[in-house]
Amino acid sequence: MEINLKDIDLFIEENKDNILRDIGRLVAVPSIEGEPEEGAPFGKEPKKALELGLEIAEELGLGTRNCENYIGYAELPGEDKEKYIATVTHLDVVPVGEGWTKSPFEMWEKDGYIIGRGVMDDKGPSVVCLYALKYLKEKNVPLRYSVRALLGANEETGMGDVQYYLKNYPAPAFAFSPDSDFPVCNGEKGIYQGMIYSKCAPERIVSIEGGMAFNVIPDKATAVLKCEGKLPEETESVKISAKDGLITLNATGKAGHASMPEGKINAIGVLVNYILDNNLCSEAEAEYLSVLKALHSCPYGTGIGVDADDKKFSPLTIVGGIIGIKDGKFFQSLDSRYPTNTSGAQITATINEKFGEHCVCETVAEMEPFYIEPDSPEIQTCINTYNEITGEKAELYTMGGGTYARDFPNAVSFGPEHPERPMSEWVGAVHCVDEGASVEFLLEALKIYIATLIRLQEVEF
Ligand SMILES: [Zn+2]
Repeated sequence: MEINLKDIDLFIEENKDNILRDIGRLVAVPSIEGEPEEGAPFGKEPKKALELGLEIAEELGLGTRNCENYIGYAELPGEDKEKYIATVTHLDVVPVGEGWTKSPFEMWEKDGYIIGRGVMDDKGPSVVCLYALKYLKEKNVPLRYSVRALLGANEETGMGDVQYYLKNYPAPAFAFSPDSDFPVCNGEKGIYQGMIYSKCAPERIVSIEGGMAFNVIPDKATAVLKCEGKLPEETESVKISAKDGLITLNATGKAGHASMPEGKINAIGVLVNYILDNNLCSEAEAEYLSVLKALHSCPYGTGIGVDADDKKFSPLTIVGGIIGIKDGKFFQSLDSRYPTNTSGAQITATINEKFGEHCVCETVAEMEPFYIEPDSPEIQTCINTYNEITGEKAELYTMGGGTYARDFPNAVSFGPEHPERPMSEWVGAVHCVDEGASVEFLLEALKIYIATLIRLQEVEF
């Protein structure tokens, strides 16, 4: 079908106020995961947000189905009774934290931005997808494949929503998920979590602590050690205090996400190097810390020999997010994002082979990499439509994060964020304080999604 971009523009102009109103209605539900209850597998609030999302879809004239409060969808029926195309977004949000300019659950507008928890991740994109279906319905676009807008309720904390859906409902022939960056992400690295335990017990090190999550590079780490005599010298990044034969070391670094370690400084690495350089631990402790030194020496795994590069993805990354002492042993967590030419099992095996004398490495969790060949017609439809509407010459990308796309047999992430178009500095990023979205870019995304959904009707699935 011929696409009338002017007509789409007109539709967006007419619906703009209602789109913003409906995003605001969803932002008002604090849909952070809660205690599971009967009929509310992810707690009360995600269920409420899902019900409201489906209510909005019905107001737009769309048929809906609530899939037992795990997930739901709006749908426009197509000729093909089996194959359908889907958009996948989510209505749950992450906790808000302190420091918001106004209430995070009352959306407000300023200088072309909307602000509120979820406006970008992923309530704004959810409403945009519902309005894309509204366009198809209003304009009587002939549909060969049904189009479903899936609304999840548990993306941020485990993706139990799509896992439930794919277990109980037939999978779409193709899905795109507006829950990441434009243009199109056709691959996600494998995600590995592991643990390196010491063989030795603590002797001079009384405590060592740093980090809170596997996937966050910590900017603070602390150790308390037995130390008689002369104190070592402080450095810019390690401060010292002494009391009763004990010294406390406070190391600082630069925090960041484990999948993007470039330019970050792991405070645990700073602390470990300082302890070794100043001979502040026993011999056995030093042998274990030397393994961690090798780990922290390079976020690409070169120091411990697990580096890998398959030329499809960027090279493997590995960071140690949490350090501590438990049950009389030291432990150090591992988070690796790995390409297709290695595996979690291989990472664990390599560490045990090289350092098995001083430590034991164990796999905690693993998700294999996912990669869809870039030349499939559905992926070409997404990227070409994006480039046509934005006038860009953007190319597909791959990343180290994990999105909904990897759970589906044939799916990609497709916008709507634009890291290459900087926002005003007072506007917060997703998961941050004062989370914001550019109204102009969100509406441009709607145009891209409408045109893409129409063109996907011509693809042979
Ligand atoms: Zn999201």
